[in-house]
Amino acid sequence: MRLVEEKVKKYLDKINKENGKMKAFLHLNEQVLGEARVIDEKIAKGGKKGKLYGYVIGVKSNINVKGLICNCASKTLENYKAPYDATVIEKIRAEDGVIIGMTNMDEFAAGSSGENSAFGCAINPKSSRRVPGGSSSGSASAVAADFCDVALGSDTGCSIRTPASNCGIIGVKPSYGLVSRYGLIDLSMSLDQIGPLAKNVEDAALLLEVIRGKDERDAKTFESSPIKVGDLKKAKVGILKIKNVDKRIQKIVNDKIELLKNKYGWSAEEVEINHIDLAVQTYYPLVYAEFFSGTRRFDGRRYGKKIEDSCGPEVLRRILGGGEITKEEFSGRYYKKALEIKEIIREEFEKVFEEYDCILSPVVPGIPWKVGEGLEMKPEDVYAYDACTIPANLAGICAMSIPAGVIKEEGEEIPIGLQIMCGKGQESKMFSIAKKLELIS
Ligand code: GLN
Repeated sequence: MRLVEEKVKKYLDKINKENGKMKAFLHLNEQVLGEARVIDEKIAKGGKKGKLYGYVIGVKSNINVKGLICNCASKTLENYKAPYDATVIEKIRAEDGVIIGMTNMDEFAAGSSGENSAFGCAINPKSSRRVPGGSSSGSASAVAADFCDVALGSDTGCSIRTPASNCGIIGVKPSYGLVSRYGLIDLSMSLDQIGPLAKNVEDAALLLEVIRGKDERDAKTFESSPIKVGDLKKAKVGILKIKNVDKRIQKIVNDKIELLKNKYGWSAEEVEINHIDLAVQTYYPLVYAEFFSGTRRFDGRRYGKKIEDSCGPEVLRRILGGGEITKEEFSGRYYKKALEIKEIIREEFEKVFEEYDCILSPVVPGIPWKVGEGLEMKPEDVYAYDACTIPANLAGICAMSIPAGVIKEEGEEIPIGLQIMCGKGQESKMFSIAKKLELIS
């Protein structure tokens, strides 16, 4: 039986038919059938099945996969072929996972909608008029369109959870340092994490279990214990109220929490995180400054084109803004101040987690806008869309999006996610809570 090869063929058929419209993948892995065959032959000879045996995986275009184009959906790196495998890719291969292709995204992961891709916005398979969410737009679109089993994304402030919410799938941002960033082309090195997008809780947990772990090539990684989806009996839930959330979204979240209380006897009460309303203003100076410094290597000599000459407007805004705020005279005013507030927000979360098992909230404050509208919006209004997701990145904790309901609008059913946040390194607890939510959906 050629199980993996057959499965890959099935996905390739679907992709070849539909991806032209969907724009979920930017590049396919030309070697994928051969790689699948190697695994099938190993198993036929009695070899051991890896944890990801039978899984076909999409990878965001900012993660290096040797031999594949890794261009971050940017003209700057248009033909850049990755010369090596990122740590997460080495780990996936070691467990028999198969990589089918590189997914679309907002250019250099800067965005919340998918519209900032230089190669066209990926389509949201659940609501074709509205954005899939970004920046891991193609990963979410590919999983939701059934082009692959699971996908990798990266999340700096929203980029796994927001597209997962918009496309009606699961998306996980691991605790900062759980997963190695080696081989990720960073947006903001102190906030980025690679994580899974999946169709169910078990698959997301499995992929995260494979890619997590301390790595000498990323000094921020820490030792962690195996991720398990357990049967959680009791939990104390904190309900986070965030300002300016669409009432229909808050109702979907509240109804789910009521169900948790009624079905499982869990307790839930409102909690406050002081200063959370400063999260967006704190996040952007950090990202601008770190992105600016990270992009200095794209000067047109070693990699691709000079970034300022070849990037889109949002990336240029961040480079110019980042250049400005990193000037000697401003460093105390913006970057250092933002770091101070980041630390205060981290402490605030820590206090709440001393008492509560998790914090639940919406993922996005409003339904996704229509494709193209984001390009006309003021940057501040686009940035405000990350208000529910950014706090977890600032605090370094784990957070995920799980489908919670739909909002009917103009004849479409728009998926809405619920966010589960748990303390740093508490992924197993987070998945166990997610599993309970999945069972009542
Ligand atoms: N929307 C945020 C930004 O544009 C977050 C992006 C991300 O998580 N990569 O920076």
